[in-house]
Amino acid sequence: MTDLRYIGIDIGGTAVKVGVCDAEGRLLHTFEGPTETDKGRERVLDNIAAYARRCADEASLDWERIAGVGVGLPGQIDAARGVVEFIANLPLAGVRLKDHLESVLGRPVRISNDANVAALGEAWSGAGRGVASSVTFTLGTGVGGGIVVGGRVIDGFSGMGGELGHMVIVPDSEAVRCGCGKTGCLETVASATGIVRMAREAVEMGVRTSLAEAGELTAKAVFDAARAGDEAARRIVGRAAHYLGRSMALVAVVINPQRFIIGGGVAKAGEFLLEQVREAFRAHAIGRAGEGVSIVAAKLGNNAGVIGAAGLVRKL
Ligand SMILES: [Zn+2]
Repeated sequence: MTDLRYIGIDIGGTAVKVGVCDAEGRLLHTFEGPTETDKGRERVLDNIAAYARRCADEASLDWERIAGVGVGLPGQIDAARGVVEFIANLPLAGVRLKDHLESVLGRPVRISNDANVAALGEAWSGAGRGVASSVTFTLGTGVGGGIVVGGRVIDGFSGMGGELGHMVIVPDSEAVRCGCGKTGCLETVASATGIVRMAREAVEMGVRTSLAEAGELTAKAVFDAARAGDEAARRIVGRAAHYLGRSMALVAVVINPQRFIIGGGVAKAGEFLLEQVREAFRAHAIGRAGEGVSIVAAKLGNNAGVIGAAGLVRKL
């Protein structure tokens, strides 16, 4: 059975990426093509199926060897029914994607949210390989998350499990509104958007900082300034790390995972950020919930999506 192959599809607003994995989660081949969102639903669905077949062809893979096809999408997904419930940048809302792809590809299909899928990829063959439970925080424009226990994504009763960016953690006195409509979410302080917002506020308030002279305010500019010793930038990074570490301490007493994984663009800050998150975690995690628990950087980068999608159809 070990020569079976698993296809993962990572669907984004501009590109669809397909990968073929073996039973160990090794990525053997990838193919990427344009989503063509502007050409409408039918074209997008046709592209997804065509790219999957093209990827298998390029890998000289007999379709019979494909055990299944997994799909990750940036939206609210009813994984149990295989339906795309809500999706912002793709014309796929309401599509019964699992049924559709099973009928055109003739293979079992599983679908899930892209953050869950990335977490599964890291758990299967990335930074969480070899541990039974891991929780991944993906720090990008927003904060995505995914919980993997015993090889399974925990997405909960209505698919909201693992929405770690919307843990309400900032005290009301300092809370700002989140994209989700609530206030005080982790995402407001730990996403690239949140970090840039805090930097802009500091500049607007006239705080002495080198960021006032920075051309474009980006999360990277804030991290660079913090590394160079800029006090205001250090406070912003410290605040993001503080709330990340506290969030992990909360998760630690809910499911007590063995490993926390930090991925996404903001995680490029590397050990400079990780060390501060670890310190905040140690300060807040109680007793055995924190013992032996590691906080590490994600390993798979942009491939986490296709590998994790393939993992949806592979019982880990
Ligand atoms: Zn929120």
